[in-house]
Amino acid sequence: MTAQVTPHIALVTGGNRGIGKEICRQLAHKGLHVILGSRSQSSGEAAAAELRAEGLSVEVLALDVSHADSITQAVAQLKQKHGQIDVLVNNAGVFLDNKQGSSSVFAIQTVTIDETFATNVYGPLQLIQAVAPLMQASGYGRIVNVSSGMGQLENMGGGSVAYRLSKSALNALTCIVDAELNAENIKVNAICPGWVKTDMGGENATREVAQGADTAVWLATLPADGPSGKFFRDRQELAW
Ligand code: NAP
Repeated sequence: MTAQVTPHIALVTGGNRGIGKEICRQLAHKGLHVILGSRSQSSGEAAAAELRAEGLSVEVLALDVSHADSITQAVAQLKQKHGQIDVLVNNAGVFLDNKQGSSSVFAIQTVTIDETFATNVYGPLQLIQAVAPLMQASGYGRIVNVSSGMGQLENMGGGSVAYRLSKSALNALTCIVDAELNAENIKVNAICPGWVKTDMGGENATREVAQGADTAVWLATLPADGPSGKFFRDRQELAW
């Protein structure tokens, strides 16, 4: 008799479009059951319908990562329904610097930084706080924070201040969580997807979503001897 294998459950935030939708697709193609987080139910359902039409195992979860209540409710719902969350991909992100005209450090308004941090930093932080206990209970977890080379201290440029600060903070969060978890089979890593053709990346971007999603999917399915507390692009380690 063949042993029953429980499919791993993966939660992907901002799964309704762009890189997030492609991460959902690639994880589901690997046999995971994917929870497609979306702040818009209708947009999430449309994305999930597209993936299900490919024969993939996907369900939609209403989740606005900039609202603590939404995170608490969503994770409680998942805990009740599935009892486990094996993979968390903090993909949802915003780039708001262009909205305010100049993106210079001499023009940035703190309200733009606050708004950006709500989604790009506090969202991942609160999701990790909610999901890590489930991973600790099961002794397995893979957390992937979708960051950006624009947050890399080694290579810091000017402009896009709110976005850069948020991704530097997300990178720091990755290291802090890794240090505190100190659990053998729970891994947390950050990625830069490269410049990807999405609503955020624009049509001049050099990469398709499949390439942008690949490293996140690789980190989300790492074996027990895989890395943790690192930053990657194209499966290659980057300096912070
Ligand atoms: P995108 O096409 O603009 O998609 C962003 C996704 O995030 C959408 O699903 C959006 O949902 C979701 N989102 C935004 N705020 C949210 C919130 N409060 N709660 C839940 N979901 C929210 O961007 P993308 O290019 O796919 O980017 C995905 C990630 O990659 C981001 O973290 C981004 O910073 C990072 N990244 C992208 C590039 C690039 O070149 N594209 C480069 C480096 C890093 P709605 O549809 O509801 O708005």
